Amino acid sequence: MTARGQLVVISGPSGAGKTSVCRALKLHPEVEFSVSATTRAPRLGERDGVDYHFLSRDDFQRRIAENQFLEWATYAGNLYGTPRWPMDQALARGRTFLVEIEVKGTRQLRERGVPGLYLFIAPPSIDELRHRLQKRGSNDAAEIEQRVRIAADELAAARDSVGGTPIYDVILENVDLDRTIDAVRRLLWP
Ligand code: 5GP
Repeated sequence: MTARGQLVVISGPSGAGKTSVCRALKLHPEVEFSVSATTRAPRLGERDGVDYHFLSRDDFQRRIAENQFLEWATYAGNLYGTPRWPMDQALARGRTFLVEIEVKGTRQLRERGVPGLYLFIAPPSIDELRHRLQKRGSNDAAEIEQRVRIAADELAAARDSVGGTPIYDVILENVDLDRTIDAVRRLLWP
């Protein structure tokens, strides 16, 4: 019998640095990662099947009905979901499986008692988050304000508990990216 791998859930507002943290973790040979499905349009440079599975709303809804998603949620008007099978396969092979999802989806996993390490990457402040989103330049001014509003809600929701268990095991404030990556590595591989 082989050891089952561990699920690692990483969340955090857009611009908090979670994608950079995940990019660093993906370099580890033990790590496999989830490619989510989404109904949002691809951004410049994003590839179908690599960054996301880009689906029509009809296709996404059919897959919900077929119970193909481990969890799914609406974010900024679009649907996002984690396909079920890659995780099952990766964990059965003893791999570390990384999913990068928002808070409502994470809550669903906690409610169902899915075992794993649940991490939330927080920005030092909302002003700093706005500044980072502006610097990144992948959203227009209205989208940035929408993401800042969602971030404020997410920061509050991330501190919630489900049946006495906090949704997140650790909330890390990302002041310095290298230090945050080191801290996450130490949590994953103590
Ligand atoms: P973005 O549009 O910036 O790529 O992602 C928007 C938000 O959706 C991010 O917080 C991201 O972590 C989250 N997200 C991406 N994939 C999934 C998923 O499969 N499920 C859930 N619940 N959230 C996701």
